[in-house]
Amino acid sequence: MTHLCGVCGSFSPKGSTLCSSCGAAPLLGVSGDAIVSIGPGVPCWRCGIDTQPLLFRVWIRHTGYVVGSRELRSSAYLCRDCGDREVAAALIWTGLLGWWSISSLVFRAPIATFRNWASAFRPPLRPLAWGAIPAAEFVRRLQEGGDLQAAYGSFDEAHEEGER
Ligand SMILES: [Zn+2]
Ligand SMILES: [Zn+2]
Repeated sequence: MTHLCGVCGSFSPKGSTLCSSCGAAPLLGVSGDAIVSIGPGVPCWRCGIDTQPLLFRVWIRHTGYVVGSRELRSSAYLCRDCGDREVAAALIWTGLLGWWSISSLVFRAPIATFRNWASAFRPPLRPLAWGAIPAAEFVRRLQEGGDLQAAYGSFDEAHEEGER
């Protein structure tokens, strides 16, 4: 993971804590061309706390019906507590309601459960596909005169629903 400065928009090498160009914090974590973490100073999309780093978290609520299934995929930048709460709720949802069709039982609910667990420990492999903020676009907004708050605030939480 490389780092992106939330003030001047330049990149710093892996493991940096301060921007190597302007010396500012916070730095944003970049993985797969997307922003996957935001250092303290920016409010959590759920609880508004701004003293903790935010992580890009994803979770899946899988619902199985007798004939078919439905999947609600969500993602947001959340503090650890809110992220853990969302993922726990998704695990419970999928655990209770995700097993009521054959394909759900043998295939989709286990995958949703696995992804929910995995997201507690690392960002998804393709964060852009999950609605993460593209690093390049973020830098463009920053350089158009916005600050970190404005650039960050112009993105929304992502939800995507799929039915099979
Ligand atoms: Zn900087
Ligand atoms: Zn929070």
